[in-house]
Amino acid sequence: MKSTKARKDILEILERYDFPLNAEEVYEILDEDYDKSTIYRNLKKFEKDGTIKSIVFSDKIKYFYKIEGHFHFIYCIKCKKFEKFDICYSESMSQYLKEKLGYQIISHTLYFEGICKDCQKSSS
Ligand SMILES: [Zn+2]
Ligand SMILES: [Zn+2]
Repeated sequence: MKSTKARKDILEILERYDFPLNAEEVYEILDEDYDKSTIYRNLKKFEKDGTIKSIVFSDKIKYFYKIEGHFHFIYCIKCKKFEKFDICYSESMSQYLKEKLGYQIISHTLYFEGICKDCQKSSS
């Protein structure tokens, strides 16, 4: 069953890496020579059933990750590197959404883009 193995292999990679990967990177990391379409299809499936999460940055590429716990990412637009951080947005923001707009908050997505320390050094 090659498709079952593909699913397992893809998930394993996302579990092993501590930062989001795009489909192209998953393809490159995989030892086995899977079809790119197999990888895209499985990533889409995992995303849909909630096994993995995804984010899209301003480069329009979708990145997938499977990390336990609540994290956010900052992305360096120069070297395309992610860093994970575990502080969240302030309570005052959800308070505002609840009180002013009357929402019950279910989830949020928060990410930053910037230029990392190393890239700032190399460009100066
Ligand atoms: Zn950088
Ligand atoms: Zn958060």
